[in-house]
Amino acid sequence: MENLGVNNKKEPKDYSYVKKNFYESVDDKTLKKVDSFAQSYINFLNECKTERESFEFFKGQALEKGFKEFNFGDKIEKGGNYFYNVRGKGIVLFHVGDNDIEKDGIRIVASHIDSPRIDIKQVPLYESDGLCFLKTHYYGGIKKYQWTAIPLSLHGVVVLKNGKKVEINLGEKDDEPVFYINDLLPHLGQNQMEQKAKAVISGEQLNIVVGAKPLKTDGNDKIKRMVLKILNEKYGMTEEDFLSSELSCVPAFKARNVGFDGSLIGGYGHDDRVCAYPAFQSIVDMTNSKHTIMCLLVDKEEIGSEGVTGMKCKVYEDIIEEICSALNKNVRKVRANSMCISADVTAAFDANFPDVFEKTNSAILSCGTCMSKFTGARGKSDSSDASAEMVGTIRKIFADNNVVWQAAELGKVDLGGGGTVAKYIANLNIDTVDIGVPVISMHSPYELISKADLYSTYQAFCAFYK
Ligand code: MN
Ligand code: MN
Repeated sequence: MENLGVNNKKEPKDYSYVKKNFYESVDDKTLKKVDSFAQSYINFLNECKTERESFEFFKGQALEKGFKEFNFGDKIEKGGNYFYNVRGKGIVLFHVGDNDIEKDGIRIVASHIDSPRIDIKQVPLYESDGLCFLKTHYYGGIKKYQWTAIPLSLHGVVVLKNGKKVEINLGEKDDEPVFYINDLLPHLGQNQMEQKAKAVISGEQLNIVVGAKPLKTDGNDKIKRMVLKILNEKYGMTEEDFLSSELSCVPAFKARNVGFDGSLIGGYGHDDRVCAYPAFQSIVDMTNSKHTIMCLLVDKEEIGSEGVTGMKCKVYEDIIEEICSALNKNVRKVRANSMCISADVTAAFDANFPDVFEKTNSAILSCGTCMSKFTGARGKSDSSDASAEMVGTIRKIFADNNVVWQAAELGKVDLGGGGTVAKYIANLNIDTVDIGVPVISMHSPYELISKADLYSTYQAFCAFYK
């Protein structure tokens, strides 16, 4: 009988490109690390739901790891590890390596720590027919109907009349009250259900229930006055103090393992903390690098990267300039030779909605971190579109370090699109490409990612910094 197990003929070489599943490509030792990394990430997600809370977390961890707070004009030394506080809403970490930065440039990973949410207006409080509400203006691109009838928590700061800043974080602990946006019962929802999804809940209907108990007194607005009494007792604030507040409602859910095999994570704000977290962990783990490496965790990406904490702000350029002048190097040469990974999420192929994806060029869950050469929409508009040379350089780094990764673009041509901070960094004459974790149900109150892709993203950033 013919021995079918032995092939004496030389196998023809296979030149095709096939995506690899991360789980089928790595050893058991790595699989253990995937789970422990995922657990620390889940803890971080539950502790940090806003850019301010993420900043505090990263600052605390950076100090523990021996990073020094840097201010403009401070000394910068080779081998030093520093962080810069961007107004309590963003953080820049950097390690100064031995290599000459005029030749070697700076290796940058840039991610954002703001997420879509429901912001409270400046004159928000009103009472109507047995309930007290807060008026809101949503932040970032959301499907409004997804934010009704779920538990919400309240986060942010209020600057009181006397200048004192009060921090609010209410609704995360099990014994704390949560907040709520009403939806219509199906029994009376016949007309609503005929509406376009856009119109099912309007912006001005995103009102948050904050009370229903009247104060025992005469006059009007007794429920509102009760809420104000509680706010004054708890936070020392009056109604006028909302004028100088930054308060947001976010989903009060805890991040959890998803699936029988627990291989996925459901949580609020994966976009983009699922890239910010591995970006941070990789820079603190790679401070022995010969390269000068930098991690930007920025604010305001979801509303266009504007303002003093967004990626378009001069502060990020200023920090690069400070490093160059401290080392007596030409900043233009340094920028020209620098490279940046714009670390942001992309859409994962969703078998429930195959029509909007072109499968060959879509990110498949658990096939590793995903590189998007370009983003944008309608003929690549608004995208910085990384060069083949840049992609080639990153490919080689990943291949040399056994990083499991895939390439994709966001959805079918002309069906939509998205942008990241990539173009703002590329505009500084720094080669930049988008790399990040594929996400299901992006911008919803509870997004889904694969633990394999999270860990692969961490490995990718470590390889880039190494
Ligand atoms: Mn994002
Ligand atoms: Mn986003």
